[in-house]
Order: sequence, then structure tokens, then C-alpha cells
Amino acid sequence: MGPPGAGKGTQAKSISLRYRIPHISTGDIFRKNISNNTTLGLAAKSYIDAGDLVPDNITISLVFDRLNNEDCKDGFLLDGFPRTVEQTAALDNYLSVKGVQLDAVVLLSVPNEFILDRMTGRRSCTLCGASYHIRYNPPVVAGKCDICGSDIIQRKDDTEETLRERLEVYELQTRPMIDYYKPRGILLEVNGTKGINEVFENICDSLGAGKVNDNN
Ligand code: ADP
Ligand code: AMP
Repeated sequence: MGPPGAGKGTQAKSISLRYRIPHISTGDIFRKNISNNTTLGLAAKSYIDAGDLVPDNITISLVFDRLNNEDCKDGFLLDGFPRTVEQTAALDNYLSVKGVQLDAVVLLSVPNEFILDRMTGRRSCTLCGASYHIRYNPPVVAGKCDICGSDIIQRKDDTEETLRERLEVYELQTRPMIDYYKPRGILLEVNGTKGINEVFENICDSLGAGKVNDNN
């Protein structure tokens, strides 16, 4: 977890590769559905464009459907979910029924003064969702994704106006999750203002080598 632009998607891609677990990004799933004009995409679009959260009932069932896939049986990484206390409670319920425990909640701490620059400079792959930045992490070939070669674009919700709403939503609806997870001793706070590689190494250090998934 972390505010918009904290680096969640960037780090999640690397964590997913190193720990060999699927990266499940609710934002990426919504965006894929929007570009494919699905019913889910249609239902989510107006909320996303306005910088608001998609309603809990839609988001929660989407994530649980995804977690029921075979590739999640040895672990998974959630990026952008849960984002409300209701989603957090629903996830707890789902996991307890499945007999699965959350190993860690990684909180990327990034003060607001970094966020505007990160968000307005962000460019995203239309196919795999990889995140780039015009200055801090440009693609090797301009306009093309390093990973899959697809076009990279600026997200419609990465504007200064939408950002204000998204930061407010984070403060009001998502930040309270910190108090939910902290007492359970699984919250790992990592300074997200360092360079991308340094943040990644710090996340891995705090997760510990013991959690690497060798089953895949
Ligand atoms: P989130 O998923 O939390 O919204 P992203 O991973 O998409 O954030 O990162 C937001 C923007 O900031 C992207 O343009 C990304 O390339 C850039 N970025 C991510 N981490 C860092 C970092 N540690 N230093 C500088 N820029 C970063
Ligand atoms: P992200 O890619 O994580 O920045 O998410 C982009 C947008 O998708 C958010 O601003 C929300 O509108 C929507 N979204 C993503 N995840 C969630 C979630 N867990 N709950 C509600 N809306 C979400």
C-alpha cells in the first residue's frame, strides 16, 4: 500500500519476478476491462476517471475471482487492494475461509511533495501495465514498453486535478488500513523516496529471504 504514485506498481513487478508469485493489480484489471469495453470496464470507468474508488462490491468480487485461480495457490501479491477498511475486512474473511495467512503488508512511504512529479511524469504500458517515468525510469525505446514492446501512454487519471481527489481518497479511505494492520505485526514500512532499485532491495530485506517461493 501507499499513496497514488508511491511506486506500488513499479515495485510489484519486481517483487512478483523475484518471489515468483502473480502480481494482481486491481487498477490494471480495471484498465484492461475499460480498453476491452467489458461490462466491468463500463461500470468502473466513471469512478476511475474522476479519481474516486470503484464501489467495494464490484472490486471485492473481482479480486476474489482472481484469487481463486490456480496460479494463486502458492502465493500472490496484491497491488492496490485492499484500499478501504471494508475491502480489508472482506479479504480477511476470504483468507480465513481458505486457511491462508497474509505474510506482509508493505507500506511505501512517500510524502505528498513527491507525488505530483511522479504522477504527471508517469507513462504506462497499454498491455502489461508496466510503469515508466519520463525522467526517473524512461523506456529504452521511446514510447515502447521494455517488457512487452506495446505502446506506452499517459493514463487519463494522471492529471493534476484528479490527483487532488485521489490523495484525498487515500487519506480518508485507505490510510486507516495502517491502523488495521499495524497491531498485527505484519506492516513493513519502507521509505519510497529512494531510487527504484534501492527501494526494491529494502523491500526484499524487510520481507526476508525465507519467504521466497521455491515451488514454481
Ligand atoms: P503506484 O502504482 O503506487 O501508483 P507507480 O509504480 O506507477 O506508482 O509509480 C509512479 C511513478 O513514479 C511512475 O512514473 C514510476 O516510474 C515512478 N517511480 C516509481 N518509483 C520511483 C522511485 N523510487 N523514484 C522515482 N520515481 C519512481
Ligand atoms: P491504480 O492503478 O492502483 O492507481 O488504480 C487506478 C484506479 O482504479 C483508482 O484510482 C480507483 O479508481 C480504481 N481502483 C483500483 N483499485 C481499487 C480498489 N481496491 N478499490 C476501489 N477502486 C480501485
